[in-house]
Formats: sequence, structure tokens, C-alpha cells
Amino acid sequence: MIEGKLNFFVVLAGLAVAAGVFAALFFISAPYGRHLRRGWGPLIANQSSWIIMESPAALVFAVCFALGSVPRNLPILVFFALWELHYIHRAFIYPFTIRDGHKKMPIAVMLMGFAFNLGNAYANGRFLFTFSGGYPQRWLMDARFWVGVILFLTGTILNRWADLTLRSLRQPGETGYRIPYGGLFRWISCPNYLGEIVEWCGWALATWSLPGLAFAVWTIANLAPRARSHHAWYHANFADYPGERKALIPGLW
Ligand code: NDP
Repeated sequence: MIEGKLNFFVVLAGLAVAAGVFAALFFISAPYGRHLRRGWGPLIANQSSWIIMESPAALVFAVCFALGSVPRNLPILVFFALWELHYIHRAFIYPFTIRDGHKKMPIAVMLMGFAFNLGNAYANGRFLFTFSGGYPQRWLMDARFWVGVILFLTGTILNRWADLTLRSLRQPGETGYRIPYGGLFRWISCPNYLGEIVEWCGWALATWSLPGLAFAVWTIANLAPRARSHHAWYHANFADYPGERKALIPGLW
């Protein structure tokens, strides 16, 4: 029971921090990728950093599943599969697909990502597989579940397609930037971030849980300001950047 309360407070603390992060990121862009700059301490290779900071999400969630006490029926198995579909890719496949000529990022950024993933995987995994008490089989027929799953899968496809499109803008060893075109890039600068946000909003809906909602809020708090920074960077660096393109939401923002 004490751990149940701890789980709840981790989520509440996460939500409070997300509000601060959201406000801060509108003034300070996270210093990695095109926004890397001096003054953030020692650096680490991007590839190693992505593996180190994202792997706790895959591993801690799997441990929570293994230790969980709820019945392992279909809804629970679907949640496990969706999460690992995302994080096995993000931690163990995506880092090997990056084309950045061995760029680096600050260890401080990696540690923040590591801490977030640890807390977030614990909050979601422990809640779903233990403290939720389980989901009945009829949850499969609930619109929140299947609309959420469809959103999650749609977001995954969009996120991976956009990341692959960005990758294809460079040859191996190149480090420069080009204007991406095609698909949703026609309307927005950051379809990979939009896909990620849709994914975790789908997760929040399908799990109908406070940790799921907190994760969706975190993702928006993190990626909406970064999309704005990327968008401004494109305009500052490409005189011919398409004027009708928005940052994150087609036609709106
Ligand atoms: P970016 O879009 O900044 O970069 C993705 C990759 O594409 C990088 O290797 C980048 O190189 C390269 N790239 C981007 N734009 C161009 C361009 N115009 N020309 C050439 N190459 C380009 O994404 P992030 O690195 O911020 O994120 C990577 C993934 O992680 C995304 O799928 C994102 O959704 C996810 N993510 C999720 C978060 C969450 O809160 N859930 C938080 C952060 C990321 P370079 O590094 O040299 O700029």
C-alpha cells in the first residue's frame, strides 16, 4: 500500500515537473542535435546516449510486467506489447539508424532522459501490472481502448516514417541539414514529434490511467516547445523554407 502511494506521488511530481519543463523549454531549447551549444558540461556520443537513456524504459517496464500481480489477460498483454513495440525500437534499433557523423550530446541531457524514463516506466508499469487491479476482458470492447490503440499505432507509423525521412536527407558521414519534403512535412516541420504525441495520447486513452495521462502531458510539454524551436531554426537557416508550413499542428501552429 505504501508503494501504491509512492507510485501516485511519482506521477503527481512528474506532472508538476512537466509544467515547469514546458515553460522552460519555450526559453531554452534542449541542447542536443541542431540546438547543441557550449556550457552544458561533458559530452557523450549520441548513439550511446540514446541507448543508455531509453533502455530503462524497455527494461523497467518488462520487470514490472514480470513482477505484476494482475491477471495476464488480453488487455494487459496488448499494453505490454505496445509499450515494448515503441521502446525496444527507440532504445535498441533507432540509435543504430541515426546518421549524424558521430555527433555528441551533453551527459546532463542524457541523465535527465535516463531519470525520466526510469520514473515513467516505473509509474506506468507498476500501475498497470499491479496497482490497477487489472483490466476486465470487456475493456477490449470499450471505445477508449480501441480508439486509443488505433491512435497509438497511427502515431507509431507517423513517427517512424518521419524519422526515416529525416535520416534519408543525409548520406552516411554527413552532418548538415536539408529541408524535408513529402507527406506531412508538406504542412508541418516536425511530423516525428506529432506522431510521438499522438502515440502517447492514444496510450493515455487506451489505459485510461493517471500515469498514462501524465506521460502524454510530458510528451507534449517536451516536444511542443522543441517543435517550435526547430521551426524557427529552419526559418532562420533556409531562406526558401516553405512559408505555409506550421511547426506541429497542420494549419494551426
Ligand atoms: P530530430 O527531428 O531533431 O532529429 C532526428 C534525427 O534526424 C537526428 O539524427 C537529426 O540530426 C536528423 N535530422 C533532423 N532534421 C534534419 C534535417 N532537416 N536534415 C538532416 N537531418 C535531420 O528528433 P530528436 O533527435 O529530438 O528525436 C528523435 C526521436 O526521439 C523522435 O522520434 C522523437 O519523437 C523522439 N523523442 C521523444 C521524446 C519524448 O518526450 N517522448 C523526447 C525526445 C525525442 P541531428 O541530431 O544532427 O540534428
